Amino acid sequence: MDSMGEFGEYVWFDGELVPFNEAKISVMTYSLHYGVGVFEGIRAYKTVDGRTAIFRLREHVERLFDSAKIYKLELPYTPEEVEKAIIDTVKASGFEECYIRPLVFLNIPKLGVRPPQRKASLAIGVLKMGRYMGEAYTKGAKVSTSAWRRIPPNSLPMNAKATGHYINSYLASVEAAQRGYDEALLLDIRGFVSEGPGQNIFIIKNGKAITPPLYASVLPGVTRETVKILLDRELGIDVFEDDISLGMLYSADEAFFTGTAAEITPIVEVDNIKIGSGTPGPVTRALQQLYEDVVRGKISKYRKWLTYI
Ligand code: PMP
Repeated sequence: MDSMGEFGEYVWFDGELVPFNEAKISVMTYSLHYGVGVFEGIRAYKTVDGRTAIFRLREHVERLFDSAKIYKLELPYTPEEVEKAIIDTVKASGFEECYIRPLVFLNIPKLGVRPPQRKASLAIGVLKMGRYMGEAYTKGAKVSTSAWRRIPPNSLPMNAKATGHYINSYLASVEAAQRGYDEALLLDIRGFVSEGPGQNIFIIKNGKAITPPLYASVLPGVTRETVKILLDRELGIDVFEDDISLGMLYSADEAFFTGTAAEITPIVEVDNIKIGSGTPGPVTRALQQLYEDVVRGKISKYRKWLTYI
């Protein structure tokens, strides 16, 4: 987690681009105290022809609106307006590649759990980001199962990407770091594999891919969806959504995380048990290369996923 870099010079905040240091909120603002907010993490890549393109912008904005709807946050913009605001923010940054963070929150300087109204603010910031998990991208990550369970979907709507959900991710992530591992793995309330603090997970066993179903408290990842398509159509690997027990994970041939930030990160050890050979497997490696080619516009049929700016 050593690659979160410099912020862009401008932040888009409630309708206009403002200099980074002038985008300010009150310390008493509602969302800061109660964790009510929804957000996205999106990447823009420099493509083969030298232009910058945002990867799967429409799908991220759709999920942002779904998350806002679930949490009853009233966004005073259309999805098209939000897409344009994101494009404008990337353009203003001058970055060829960046990570984009739109945040929808209640910027109301009033306390009390029931907010007086739910009209939301939208802030969009950008930052430079390399490999989210550093050298684990090439070496593979060593992960440990968290003592904390992923929040059950009858307590919070885990298909929404909400700020408050990340206090569960925070606990797991800090615990893993203190234990000396690269990353945490969370189990769901039933004890089946759920996801990482900020990544979905897949296993490969006997030439088939399995990823946990949405009811296992997982975020419907945009990368998860992309990877399902690439495994099936490009690598000829059948993909199933099914419960994964810890035993199934320990005995998998390969395992990897997926996420906008994490991209495809191999998992080489879980709870000190080697996955497969204990090095990134052939399917994972092929998928990393394929994903890289897709996001950089090298494969024409997937350029439909790129929004050139
Ligand atoms: N699960 C969690 C908890 C996440 O934070 C993320 C990152 N947004 C993901 C999964 C992966 O989602 P995506 O592929 O859309 O980035």
